[in-house]
Amino acid sequence: MRHFLSKSQMAKGLQCEKALWLLKHKKSVLTPPDIMQQALFDQGHEVGKVAQELYPGGTLVPFDMSPFNAKFDYTQSLINDGVTTIYEASFKTQHLMCIVDILHKGPDGWELIEVKSTTSDKEVVLDDIAIQYFILTQVGFPIAKTNLMHINRDYVRGKSLEIADLFKHLDVTADTLERQEKLKTEYQRLVSVITDYNEPEKPLGQYCLSPYTCDAKAYCWANIPAYSIFNLAGMKLDQKFEWYNKGVLTLDQMPETAQITENQTLQINSSLTGEKKINLVEINRFMQSIHYPIAYLDFESFQGAIPPFEGSRPYQQLPFQHSIHIMNSPFDQPSHFEYLGDPKTDPRKDLAKDLCNKIPKDACVLVYNAAFEKSIIKELADLYPKYEEKLMKIHDNIVDLMLPFKEKWVYYPEMKGSYSIKAVLPALVPELSYENLEINNGAIASHTYSQMRKHPDNPENKNTIAHLLSYCELDTLAMVKLFEKLTQLTNES
Ligand code: SF4
Repeated sequence: MRHFLSKSQMAKGLQCEKALWLLKHKKSVLTPPDIMQQALFDQGHEVGKVAQELYPGGTLVPFDMSPFNAKFDYTQSLINDGVTTIYEASFKTQHLMCIVDILHKGPDGWELIEVKSTTSDKEVVLDDIAIQYFILTQVGFPIAKTNLMHINRDYVRGKSLEIADLFKHLDVTADTLERQEKLKTEYQRLVSVITDYNEPEKPLGQYCLSPYTCDAKAYCWANIPAYSIFNLAGMKLDQKFEWYNKGVLTLDQMPETAQITENQTLQINSSLTGEKKINLVEINRFMQSIHYPIAYLDFESFQGAIPPFEGSRPYQQLPFQHSIHIMNSPFDQPSHFEYLGDPKTDPRKDLAKDLCNKIPKDACVLVYNAAFEKSIIKELADLYPKYEEKLMKIHDNIVDLMLPFKEKWVYYPEMKGSYSIKAVLPALVPELSYENLEINNGAIASHTYSQMRKHPDNPENKNTIAHLLSYCELDTLAMVKLFEKLTQLTNES
């Protein structure tokens, strides 16, 4: 079975032949998919199911048919019986196999339809379709047309989901045919790689991270230090590999003559000397733009390929939670307010109302990364005219606490070139940490809430809600502490 290739294995081999060899011969070194990768797979399946409705009346070939070969025989029997639409049609030769999302008999013959939850026809998607066509050709099954169905990013949901508008359809037959010659050669190459018992030599390259982060990265990158040239902020990946290939592995190996930016020079020098940079003139100017009362605000949001609410778009960030810390004067203890939407409903209207009630009129609203919070508030204001005036007041009063760190008015070597709050907080306020939280980043918070929406009556949700609240509260408390730290820096001057 070692020289047996599935569609996804062939795609893996096209990214890197060593990755394929490791899968076949040394699987234990591969990192299993994490919760976020699994969520992407699940979303792909969900989108695939919805897409089937555009080809109604088809027959599904169950993925887990037993024994394993039964699904290939079942597909063949459906074709022989004159079935014209098959979902998950499964094909196999002695050395290759693939599953086609939708196989449909159109006026000119069989059409292969690939469904993707992405919003574009990226190279990797076109390769994917071409591989399926290649395998079907090997099987001897004629395909007249190959189609890509991907999510239409401009779709706005009405009262119900208009599936025909949710997808864009592209005829990619010409592109598929164009790729066949190359695939023939690549297939031969990959077979010779996996039938060889020697692990292939392969230098590290951009393919380790693109189009997907390779699941063998922990194994192949074991000798790359935790802080290396690959952590130099603001440098393109191809340039990082150029330096790496010239023997620059760590920041101290970067030649002094290298043409790099001011911020990169700061990152390198600071890592070598341990020195901090504090620009008091700019920090003071920034602090003067802030007045009491201060409302520290943070949202959590979720998004997905299939818009869940009327008026929402694919992959639109939909807020479900906020945390607010309010300080009326520098001598106050901060008061905390929070909101978490009921996963059974659209939380946005209640969240907008709560925001208007909790944030004092004319408060200075401090957020971390204003572009995100501003876009959420603007969309809420457009959606709910009743709250528009108050929401836009909040919007216009936003000041971005990220600015001093993004502009490098404050830079500590521990930030390692980053100005994300997850990098800045431990550098300036080490006593406060996300590390012990069950939910410790926005992506997991978003995924967790999406899961609660799918299973709103899960008894575990009570605990999950507590974890979500703790996470969002820490985001605004972190801002309170960072602001205190900036105040302290200016007072010390
Ligand atoms: S980490 Fe890079 S070199 Fe190693 S298998 Fe993956 S893509 Fe290939």
